[in-house]
Amino acid sequence: MPFCPQCRYEYHPGTEQCPDCRVPLVETLPPDPRQWEQFETVELCKVSDEMTGLALQAFLLDAGIGLNLRDMRASFYGNVLSGIQGYWGTAIVTKEDEPQARKLYAEFLKDFEKK
Ligand SMILES: [Zn+2]
Repeated sequence: MPFCPQCRYEYHPGTEQCPDCRVPLVETLPPDPRQWEQFETVELCKVSDEMTGLALQAFLLDAGIGLNLRDMRASFYGNVLSGIQGYWGTAIVTKEDEPQARKLYAEFLKDFEKK
């Protein structure tokens, strides 16, 4: 059954787009961001800026993988640390999704370099 990745509503097979959110439906629903705490997670990569993070998130979502972006600046020392370490935040995936996410991340990087 296809799901809307945004409102998480389940649709009949053959439906391709959520009429409410106007986004393409996905076959497997990624973990609910509100329920990330329930999953064992790993850091997929460092993200240099927010744009890259969001692009990667969309790319993985296409494959049905949920990506949690952790903005370094959200933490108390974040601003200082991201300045020193030169990145914006980290991309988190569930342990279960990690192998596939790593493969996709490699593809994403190749794609990204082309542009
Ligand atoms: Zn929707």
